[in-house]
Amino acid sequence: MADIRSIDDLDARGKKVLVRVDFNVPTKDGVVTDDTRIQRALPTIQKLIADGGRMILMSHKGRPSGNGFEAEFSNAPAAARLSELLGQEVVLAEDVTGPSAAQVASALGDGQVALLENVRFDGREKKNDPDFARELASLADVYVNDAFGTAHRAHASTKGVADLLPAYAGYLMQKEVGTLTGMLDDPKRPFIAVLGGSKVSDKIKVIDALLDKVDGLIIGGAMCFTFLMAEGKATGASLVEPDWTDRARAMMEKAKANGVKLHLPVDVVAAKAMEEDAEAFFVSVDEIPEDLMGLDIGPETADIYADAIKKAACVFWNGPMGVFEMEPFSHGTRKVAEAIAANAEADTIIGGGDSVAAVNQFGLADEMTFISTGGGASMELVQGEELPGVAALMTDVEGR
Ligand code: AMP
Repeated sequence: MADIRSIDDLDARGKKVLVRVDFNVPTKDGVVTDDTRIQRALPTIQKLIADGGRMILMSHKGRPSGNGFEAEFSNAPAAARLSELLGQEVVLAEDVTGPSAAQVASALGDGQVALLENVRFDGREKKNDPDFARELASLADVYVNDAFGTAHRAHASTKGVADLLPAYAGYLMQKEVGTLTGMLDDPKRPFIAVLGGSKVSDKIKVIDALLDKVDGLIIGGAMCFTFLMAEGKATGASLVEPDWTDRARAMMEKAKANGVKLHLPVDVVAAKAMEEDAEAFFVSVDEIPEDLMGLDIGPETADIYADAIKKAACVFWNGPMGVFEMEPFSHGTRKVAEAIAANAEADTIIGGGDSVAAVNQFGLADEMTFISTGGGASMELVQGEELPGVAALMTDVEGR
């Protein structure tokens, strides 16, 4: 089996190391407002500093047009915050592969750190353009990828450049891949997955894959209504995907065949509109009135779900149980988050995206075993898909 090539096997002294990080951080007025992603990259950066590498960091931020510099998407706030966290200068290049990048890269001394401007300022990044990948590669001697959040994208900075330079995985990348694959290959049991979010169509492959791995599957969020409709229940004005009821039914049959306990809500919190001040009603899933939409799992369901989570030895969670952004419909998600946090014995793994936002909103992040930095990437990994950015770091890649 292929192994991921670790920076522990890299002698970085005196080498120019091009490091792909995920500094796609929220900013306001030029200041980073949540530096979690920068913090998560620190172990790799600090190790390479200690080894005497010459770091050229690169990251995307947001979705610029790809036609050059746009102040709103600059990496300047990330450079400033990283400099504070490291307690040393971080030089920001004014471009990605232009004269400034070349000058900054060649001026680096051992243990010094530079950051290129947003790689997506160049439209060739997302196309994995070979010339752009060559320009990036020409800045350095070796390549390190620590950006798990973009590992499912075959872009120049995640894939193209990895094929041109000796390529290694940073510590965050190793931890992400190791935790998620470990959970899938050899979980502590009972292993329960908690899936929510808006659409079954988005999550069907994850559900399908997890049904081969888990002992129990808890379904919440709007996607439960497609399952309830598949059971012949009236779902009122809830968000539902009628075209997906056959697939939902197939998943219920697969759960039964695999001996997986599939949990669906028995009650919901419903309202006439998805509005913060809408009057909320608690209704049984057998009696959802035509004019009401289900916006959260109900209290009885939340108790049942919390109880199942309490008995689990491994919990994987992706997707909120309801419209957690609005207080009246946040209780189901909170109860589930609290149950996961309270299960201190279990491996508790949060699979990125809105579940991470919910865990942070409820102040429970420190209670979890692992919080993934990559929503899309972690879903694709769980689905069993090969992540191009990870595959490029494997030891059996031809020619290296
Ligand atoms: P996703 O991006 O698919 O993970 O879905 C997350 C979104 O689903 C959040 O913004 C939630 O507000 C929304 N959501 C969860 N439950 C419901 C529901 N019952 N009705 C409508 N939207 C929901």
